[in-house]
Amino acid sequence: MALNKKQHRPSLDDLLAELRLTTIRQHYEDHAQQATQETLSYQTYLQGLVECEIECRRQNRIGRLLRQSRLPLEKSLETFDLTRLPAKMVQQIRSLLDGQFLARTENIIAFGNPGSGKTHLLCAIGQALVQQGHKVYFSTCSLLVQELLRSKRDLSLDKILKKFSKYDALIVDDIGYVQQNREEMEVLFSLLAYRYERGSVLISSNLPFSQWESIFKDPMTTAAAIDRLVHHSVILELNLKSYRMEAAQKSQRKVR
Ligand code: ADP
Ligand code: MG
Repeated sequence: MALNKKQHRPSLDDLLAELRLTTIRQHYEDHAQQATQETLSYQTYLQGLVECEIECRRQNRIGRLLRQSRLPLEKSLETFDLTRLPAKMVQQIRSLLDGQFLARTENIIAFGNPGSGKTHLLCAIGQALVQQGHKVYFSTCSLLVQELLRSKRDLSLDKILKKFSKYDALIVDDIGYVQQNREEMEVLFSLLAYRYERGSVLISSNLPFSQWESIFKDPMTTAAAIDRLVHHSVILELNLKSYRMEAAQKSQRKVR
């Protein structure tokens, strides 16, 4: 019995679904209509659809990377007032935004008093990196240390260090803010040592290097940690008034 080939031919929708070309599947009819109206060539029609598919995949990937990064979304470059910063630092930040420092495994260290915008700035840089498709992971230092300690107790510290190495940028927010005990300090040091020349670390701290002994407990470890961090690094000194304080003062002035 001769099979009727036409009857068994899967539909275009099914074929596109099999190839997982979801966006093309959604849009090929609209695009076809437009192509007829505008008498576009077959090639232009196909190009438009493929571009659409690629753009949609890119957006999905960025959305996924943003969720995985755990970055607070509200702390973006759009909501960060760069005019508060000295022009030279703005220039420095702009050059960091192209993400090339990641390939050089350079670190960023942001110093400044509480409220000066360290966390916001590092998060904004982090978001810009994600937009370019880089893998970023954000954590406060104390949460990160807890995560490392849990792994150490499960004898899987190596595993988690390797897990972190899949990120192009690791943001460690507020190092030294919470006093750490010796065991906590040791896992933190292990992470920084492992990361050295393997991947960028973006760190913020209220404490200048001269007070880092309170973090790493002894002078040797402190010197070793600082040495690895600063070897390839950009240091941002945000010697600014607290943004929160300034905002509060402004709103009080309005009330008066
Ligand atoms: P830090 O980490 O230095 O303590 P944050 O980054 O947490 O400071 O900033 C404190 C608050 O002020 C946050 O709500 C932050 O969004 C805001 N902020 C700080 N600097 C700026 C800035 N330049 N533009 C906009 N908001 C800022
Ligand atoms: Mg902070």
